[in-house]
Amino acid sequence: MEDCLFCKIVSGDIEGDVVHTTDHTVAFRDINGQAPTHVLVVPKDHYSNAAELAAADPAAMAELVSAAADVAKAEGYDDYQLVFNTGAGAGQSVFHTHLHVLAGRPMSWPPG
Ligand code: 5GP
Ligand code: ZN
Repeated sequence: MEDCLFCKIVSGDIEGDVVHTTDHTVAFRDINGQAPTHVLVVPKDHYSNAAELAAADPAAMAELVSAAADVAKAEGYDDYQLVFNTGAGAGQSVFHTHLHVLAGRPMSWPPG
């Protein structure tokens, strides 16, 4: 999709610190990390949010979650937090589905 930041990272048009890839996902470090490990896992295809991806391609959604677990494990963490923000009012700022993987510090609950 034109003018989508994460589509451009997936295609390589914009540089990303890529740590993991699968057939349908790419994982790269968040530019403004909020934990020792803060990685974004995105589908290679463009969907606006988690629910759209789940409805259109459930297998890719499952691959996204498995990729997130693989990233946490590769970074040495059994405990991690996975977050999908959906909608600007809930903190979504990039409208290409992305799963935040946060690990390496105590995680508080509820989230802010
Ligand atoms: P959201 O707020 O939509 O849930 O998450 C978007 C995330 O993308 C934010 O955590 C933000 O730091 C990250 N981000 C924004 N621009 C860039 C960028 O150019 N490169 C990378 N790697 N992350 C970005
Ligand atoms: Zn996109």
